[in-house]
Amino acid sequence: MPELRHDPVQRRWVIIATERAQRPHDFQVDRALPQAQNCPFCTGHEAATPPEIAAFRDAAAPNAPGWKVRVVSNKYPALRIEGDLERAAAGQYDRMNGIGAHEVIVETPDHDKDISDLPIEHIGQILKMYRERLIDLQRDPRFRYILIFRNRGAAAGASLEHPHSQIIATPVTPRTVAVELQSAREHYAVKERCIFCDIIVDELRQHSRIVTADDDFVTWCPYAARFPFEMMLAPRKHAADYAAMDDAQILRLARHLREVILRMKDSLDDPPYNFLLHTAPSYQMQRRRPGYWSTIEQDWHWHIEILPRLTKTAGFEWGSGFYINPTAPEDAARYMRDVRVPVMER
Ligand SMILES: [Zn+2]
Ligand SMILES: [Zn+2]
Repeated sequence: MPELRHDPVQRRWVIIATERAQRPHDFQVDRALPQAQNCPFCTGHEAATPPEIAAFRDAAAPNAPGWKVRVVSNKYPALRIEGDLERAAAGQYDRMNGIGAHEVIVETPDHDKDISDLPIEHIGQILKMYRERLIDLQRDPRFRYILIFRNRGAAAGASLEHPHSQIIATPVTPRTVAVELQSAREHYAVKERCIFCDIIVDELRQHSRIVTADDDFVTWCPYAARFPFEMMLAPRKHAADYAAMDDAQILRLARHLREVILRMKDSLDDPPYNFLLHTAPSYQMQRRRPGYWSTIEQDWHWHIEILPRLTKTAGFEWGSGFYINPTAPEDAARYMRDVRVPVMER
């Protein structure tokens, strides 16, 4: 059973998950990713994964070929779904059982197609699956936050080449999200406006950091970007919860996201990258907890962060929490804005 341990000095939780890698040689860096013939996510290899949790498929039988998007439990989960939290003191420390969910969304049966190679309708199915899993996992009162993310390329932490996203539901709100939630709440308390809406209005007015914008979504390089070509994508209209999007909005997001990824890939020659979704915490359940804030639907604005992995975090970053970004976000945005991407209707 994995365990969550609290660091009282840094005020952060760490997952101790010893089943994932026990021996020093499991930590080899820059290992080659497995080839398609023994890839557990390829179509025809359904038996190599834990049983399906959900899928969009043409054929009726689960755990067999015929699917387009498939969700399974992670075979080496960082957190486990069964059991109770058993929050406890351990001497002067705090700990709890590593309860949570760790799922993999296999995005396509095709090993060699990245998300931006797929038709909009298929990307839409991936993004709909995000919504379905969020709605399902938000029902579990043990989970405070559900993070969906995507690692592409070994340098971005992917252990399999086959295009996939991951979902981790945690019994505590991750610190990075907690800081964002706190800022948004405090901004709203003073100004009665959403901090993200304020930023979006300002970015659209200035335009220098906009990568692309359409009627529904906008992507820009943040003013204080940590990494070169870091991007933020958000709906233009205020919305706290990703899972509240309807099918038509999701299709428009698919179109926007594909364009953004194509601009990034073209500018940077297919870089490794991480992408993460910061939606609202599972507030439907949490709301009943005393002291849970009531303005979350007004103060939080869901967004996706896209982080190309072009630089390595080293001692200074780890020691200080500062980042040194060698590319001005205005330059990165202009570069990606100027890329000519093919206009594809499907
Ligand atoms: Zn594969
Ligand atoms: Zn907003």
